[in-house]
Amino acid sequence: MTTLADPVPGGRPGDVERATALSGELAGRGVHGVVLAYVDTAGIARVKAVPTAKLPSAAAWGVGMSPVFDTFLADDSIVTTDVLGSPDGDLRLYPDLSRLVVLAGQPGWAWAPVDRITQEGGTHPGCARTFLRHLVARAARRHGLSFRASIEIEWAVGQGPAAEGEFVPAVTGPAYGAARQVELSDCLAELLAALAAQGVDVDQIHPEYAAGQFELSVAALDPVAAADRSVLVRQTIRAVSGRHGLAVSFAPAVLARGVGNGGHLHLSAWRDGVNLHAGGDHRHGMTADAEAFTAGVLARLPALTAVTAPSPASYLRLRPSQWAGVFTAWGRETREAGVRVITGTAGHRDRAANIEIKPVDLAANPYLAFGCVIAAGLDGLANSAVLPEEITGDPAGLGAEEARARGVRRLPGSLAEAVAEFTADEVLTGALGPVLTDAVIAVRRGEIAAVDGFDDAAVAAAYRWRY
Ligand code: GLU
Ligand code: MG
Repeated sequence: MTTLADPVPGGRPGDVERATALSGELAGRGVHGVVLAYVDTAGIARVKAVPTAKLPSAAAWGVGMSPVFDTFLADDSIVTTDVLGSPDGDLRLYPDLSRLVVLAGQPGWAWAPVDRITQEGGTHPGCARTFLRHLVARAARRHGLSFRASIEIEWAVGQGPAAEGEFVPAVTGPAYGAARQVELSDCLAELLAALAAQGVDVDQIHPEYAAGQFELSVAALDPVAAADRSVLVRQTIRAVSGRHGLAVSFAPAVLARGVGNGGHLHLSAWRDGVNLHAGGDHRHGMTADAEAFTAGVLARLPALTAVTAPSPASYLRLRPSQWAGVFTAWGRETREAGVRVITGTAGHRDRAANIEIKPVDLAANPYLAFGCVIAAGLDGLANSAVLPEEITGDPAGLGAEEARARGVRRLPGSLAEAVAEFTADEVLTGALGPVLTDAVIAVRRGEIAAVDGFDDAAVAAAYRWRY
């Protein structure tokens, strides 16, 4: 449970003392600098860094960074709106010291996620991490709910440095193949060692389906911690792979055709320490609340894709029969439904049951993605939403008539369609508030314009190495 207070000028209570002690300890461990990270609206992790000795000052007064990054695009160009994208003003980045870790994959460095506030000390309405922190705290206060969450990470390993625009897989073994695991043996072992040293509880790591692809999953945490962790794990994969001379791509579509890189979200709602997705008298053991929450998420999937699949390249991945879940359908262990209900194994269900949201990739800002999915779920809960009939098999095989009758819709086929759904969605835009809504719409429209006239191969190439 994240109970962290908002930062204030002078520092959160106790933080300056803590940062002073930490900076001495870090220096003693050979750490020279601390990377301060957040994720922008386009899904790019942006950083500032301070020498270790300046950590107390960062904890007290923050570190400056322009608000213009709220409307940066993935290619670093900037869009403007009536309120965003101006060269004026400044924000202060405040590290969350409770999440500071020494980076085992980058000797000499530590890392911490930040919240951003204004120079006057007010909450920055464009700060995605603050948005999620507040939403989770409100769900606890108003509904007595907490959440357990995680993000699966898929990536492709390429020979590096590859020529401009190229992806040459660094491994050639088959999907899920022992050969591919052997090919990357040293790098994967070093990665596991680095993540363990950083306190990341890895569940699994394996060769995935697409060329050069791997996947890593981690244990569930509260949503803010899970989003932080997803940023940290990617930083670590990149760093360790780089030390092995390899390039990594977390892009939704490394190539224009075929299975892409997903970033499936796992989420369960809990009350009083009890998992609402298990032990209930609704389908597959869901409680009435879990069903309503899940139905709320399912109903808003088309609008959610503007947040969970935010890149033009996301729509190369979001195609039927590629395990990306491109239909508004749900089913137990159904890998082509947008929402997969996971019951867990008999005997373990009270811990393991959760929902998996599939039309999500790693171009998504994880704080915005969790926040919007939870807002959709809470709306379902408030309205006692009911799940339609479950599907089995691939919804792509349903005839148009049957799909319509069962409420199974294809998710947006382009970012433009997703933005139209999102713009009309009062629950999501209401939860985000006017500034984040403005940022999401402006950045998505900017991305659409940036690839105007590109064919699929050019879209894939444009984003291949950006995320
Ligand atoms: N790579 C697939 C995707 O794009 C997911 C494969 C899997 O089910 O793990 O989401
Ligand atoms: Mg996978």
